[in-house]
Amino acid sequence: MKVAVVLFTRDLRVHDNPALAAAARAAERVVPLFVHDPSLSAGANRRGFLDECLTDLKASLRQRGADLVELRGDPVAESVRVAKAVGAEGIGVAADVSGYARDRERRLEEACAAERIALKTFAGVTIVPPGAVRPGGGGGHYKVFTPFWRAWQAHQWRDVEGAPRTLRLPDDLPASWFRDRPDAKDGGESAARKRLTRWLPNLSGYDDDHDAMAADRTSRISPFLHFGCLSPRDVAARVHDRPGAGPFLRQLCWRDFYHQVLFAFPDLRRKAYRASAEDRWRDESDALQAWREGHTGVPIVDAGMRQLLAEGWMHNRARLITASYLTKHLGVDWRAGGDHFFDLLLDGDVANNYGNWQWVAGTGNDTKPYRRFNPIRQAHRFDPAGDYVRRYVPELADIPGKAVHEPWNLPGPPRGYPAPLKL
Ligand code: FAD
Repeated sequence: MKVAVVLFTRDLRVHDNPALAAAARAAERVVPLFVHDPSLSAGANRRGFLDECLTDLKASLRQRGADLVELRGDPVAESVRVAKAVGAEGIGVAADVSGYARDRERRLEEACAAERIALKTFAGVTIVPPGAVRPGGGGGHYKVFTPFWRAWQAHQWRDVEGAPRTLRLPDDLPASWFRDRPDAKDGGESAARKRLTRWLPNLSGYDDDHDAMAADRTSRISPFLHFGCLSPRDVAARVHDRPGAGPFLRQLCWRDFYHQVLFAFPDLRRKAYRASAEDRWRDESDALQAWREGHTGVPIVDAGMRQLLAEGWMHNRARLITASYLTKHLGVDWRAGGDHFFDLLLDGDVANNYGNWQWVAGTGNDTKPYRRFNPIRQAHRFDPAGDYVRRYVPELADIPGKAVHEPWNLPGPPRGYPAPLKL
């Protein structure tokens, strides 16, 4: 093949990028393309992060002799326009799972067929592609995690692809197709690979530490996985033979699990997954607002919500506690909580966010839908010295030790900190 276009979506990397690797092998010239799609909305945190990813991707492509074409508009129309302008015989793109992404893929298929351009989609957003393992070998998808985890481990994983050494653009591409970007700083694939390498020595302690909220010892690679700066398959390969890999792989498997749930149930963001689930909620707009701002008066909940506001990220244990508090304690609709998370999280992801929210709310894949986390007990167990709370709630910074979890038991209430919400 003389010319191929690679449409990047949320696979913003050169290592183990199956679409890019295949184009580099098959075509003499490759056009790496990213289309800014105005119909996709992301909060400011994710938009900033995306910008860093693109800056880094452009630098990596330039190091290999190519560049990144950046256009704005409908990715389908723009990809076909570019392919026709450069005389490309084929377009390669990563297969994805959301309803929006699958519709985009269907439209791209039709547009390519009309123009006699070959379209090839590549698995890579998850370790095991959705649908590759199915319960009982039949149709359908896994609704419960543990059998999925078993099948997932037994499934043959694809080979990891290297990064192409060199890439050649077609000659004379219009200058307007390229965007000036400053030197790459701290986002994107290069930062992701460094972070993972630095974190790997912690893997052996992951099973013991991952719930220790103040220690903050989880990998924090979730935003990089969301934007595909890291390939989950590559991450799995890098951890696989190291001590302590099992519990970490299990978390990566949860990610694959929710992706196959979303693939099978595209309404995950709006509709209760379990048809029989109790899905009626109180209208508590003041309580919802206090929760959003981290002013519920329950310190562990407020600390989590303020971490989200400050960092665009929240520890997994805090996500569980805050989501459970909103849905099961305040009785507020999981969609309102999920939307707030989705707006602010750097790793905000339809599959993982709404899959987990439904799990916590009892409308989703939890086999114990009436489970309820007691925030005070959780606080004592997972933040025993109170350091996590003091880090994020300055009004409580002077309260020593575990007393910080129950300020209402102190002789004088801490100044500026509310009493717990009453319903
Ligand atoms: P680590 O503990 O280092 O785990 C490694 C990777 O495994 C993570 O990066 C992530 O990709 C995956 N993983 C870990 N836990 C889960 C899980 N429960 N479900 C799915 N994948 C998991 N994760 C997101 O990536 N995006 C979201 O929008 C998101 N929303 C969430 C909302 C709620 C209410 C809850 C309870 C969890 C949510 N999670 C979400 C899952 C989890 O909290 C984050 O993936 C994790 O905290 C990211 O930190 P880490 O990279 O340090 O994780």
